[in-house]
Amino acid sequence: MIIKENKKNIKQLENNPTPNWDNFVSKLEECDEKLSRAWSQINHLNAVINSPDLRSEYNNNVTKITKYYSELSQNEKLFLNFKKIKQSKEFKKLSATRQKIINDELLGFKLGGIGLSENKKKIFKKIKVSLSKLSSKFEENILDATNNYYLNIIDKNDLLGLPDFLINDAKKRAVEKKKSGWIFTLDYPSYFPFMQYADNRKLRENFYHAYSTRASELGDKKFDNKKNINEILKLKHQLAKLIGYKNYSEVSLATKMASSSNEVINFLDKLAKKARPYAVKDMNDLKKHAQKYGIKKIEAWDVSFLSEKLRNEIFNFKDSEIKQFFPRKKVMSGLFQLVHKLYGISIIKKKADTWHKDVEFYEIKDKVKNVIGYFYLDLFARENKRGGAWMDECISKYKFNDEISNPIAYLTCNFSSPSGNKDAYFTHDEVITLFHEFGHGLHHLLTDITDYSVSGIRGVEWDAVELPSQFMENFCWDWQVIKSMTEHEHTKKQMPKNLFDKLISAKNFQSGLQTLRQVEFALYDIKLHMKYSSNHNYYMNLLHKVRREIAVVIPPKSNRFPNNFSHIFAGGYAAGYFSYKWAEVLSADVYSEFEKYNVLSPKIGAKFKNEVLSRGGSRPMMKSFIAFLGRKPKIDSLLKYSGLS
Ligand code: ZN
Repeated sequence: MIIKENKKNIKQLENNPTPNWDNFVSKLEECDEKLSRAWSQINHLNAVINSPDLRSEYNNNVTKITKYYSELSQNEKLFLNFKKIKQSKEFKKLSATRQKIINDELLGFKLGGIGLSENKKKIFKKIKVSLSKLSSKFEENILDATNNYYLNIIDKNDLLGLPDFLINDAKKRAVEKKKSGWIFTLDYPSYFPFMQYADNRKLRENFYHAYSTRASELGDKKFDNKKNINEILKLKHQLAKLIGYKNYSEVSLATKMASSSNEVINFLDKLAKKARPYAVKDMNDLKKHAQKYGIKKIEAWDVSFLSEKLRNEIFNFKDSEIKQFFPRKKVMSGLFQLVHKLYGISIIKKKADTWHKDVEFYEIKDKVKNVIGYFYLDLFARENKRGGAWMDECISKYKFNDEISNPIAYLTCNFSSPSGNKDAYFTHDEVITLFHEFGHGLHHLLTDITDYSVSGIRGVEWDAVELPSQFMENFCWDWQVIKSMTEHEHTKKQMPKNLFDKLISAKNFQSGLQTLRQVEFALYDIKLHMKYSSNHNYYMNLLHKVRREIAVVIPPKSNRFPNNFSHIFAGGYAAGYFSYKWAEVLSADVYSEFEKYNVLSPKIGAKFKNEVLSRGGSRPMMKSFIAFLGRKPKIDSLLKYSGLS
């Protein structure tokens, strides 16, 4: 229905001979809002109560919606009208926000190959189709290679060191396959703990080899991804050239906060340099420990094993011990008080019809008691609910004609639900997850922007969108904030400070090695997409080079990591893997500014809200960041919080 109506309206907009903001852009946004609002509800309900009815409703519509948006992004006439506005006198009179919306649209069309000659457009489409097929094939190969192998243990002695849950799972698998003994697979939940716990070194080595050569010429050749990798790299480079960029890295960065490949490389190099001495120290700690287990030279298949042993020795506490201190009621009210102090907002629970009895609905009021938004909170795991945690837009803030709408968010988690009359207790990880999603929520809900395309998290660069969420995580490591959220299940006492201190040191355990590993992947990714080479071994040679330059743990020659690097060859992370670290730097930098005053200072809270949270995508994040901090981001705070300084 809405799609039909929108299509009719869009036809009229296409043929608008004198397009301007009011009669064209705003109308187009209205169409988008109407459809997004309807679709976000179906999409959300399908995710949280996957009933047969909803599923079929979803499946009936998802193809239509995808087709609708893809046609929209390929609509030449709309593109020409945007161009007309950009070239008109009116453009300069528009607000900076509206100018940005138009520029963003034009950039989107450019990246979508619109405006190319007919011939080039054909090539563009062909490349796109091929790339999409190659990505699927890449992913399929990993899946098939993963499923194609299993480790069947017959001798009970080979299970030494493994925890019961892992052994039980392995037994179940063997029974299913009608095999004797125990079966371990290359799926991460089976593979990773095996490498952490298995005492038998030879088995770890074999298993590691199977895992790290998946989808390569060293495994079953049927699933080798080498050709796919080379083809993907070639096509991405051609695509970049076709739409006027030097390389694919530039294409990726066109819509990101980071301004150039060199900026990204400098950033990663700096991080590597700082993290390296700590990684060397982490490695030395492992070496000292290795002797206990008769290991003379640490190999790639020993690292997780030794780390786990060392971790256990240093931090002798369990998640369950921590969990007794975080009752839901305390955590929620602590979180609400925190944002009340920082931003002056009040959060009030309201009665509302929801999709499940556990779901709560809240209203947010500003300082002067005006309602500014709402959110649904769906905390607990249950059957037919998609796993993970996320924030989603239900309704975004906008103003069309004279109608203003307040934003509404969905906050979804999958924590273990309370049993019986007992309230739920959270692990510290769960508290962090809650804060993280709440940070996304605040970004969506505290927006002042009423131009729909850039209100809340809309129009925010991809490598900056995690700033508000990761920023919130920092509070979970602040004793001043956390202590009031703790109360022991039985004794009703606060968490002892020394237990919290242990939690902090455990957080930074081996952060040198971990940081360096992430930097290695990110550097490899960006360099791989900066220069194209027709040499079919280039992608492996480059990896070796990057590793020689920065890595502390050098994997064996047989390691074929790129053949499994789905993020960049099948996901959307090509020349974008650095975003993880980038966002961490931003959020740590912002948090350190809070620390300068007092993390609970309303003054600094207001500044952050005014310069970052409320601005949405109305201006580049770098501008918002500089408006808040008075300078560009620096890596120092992240290093400090990660124990690397
Ligand atoms: Zn997030």
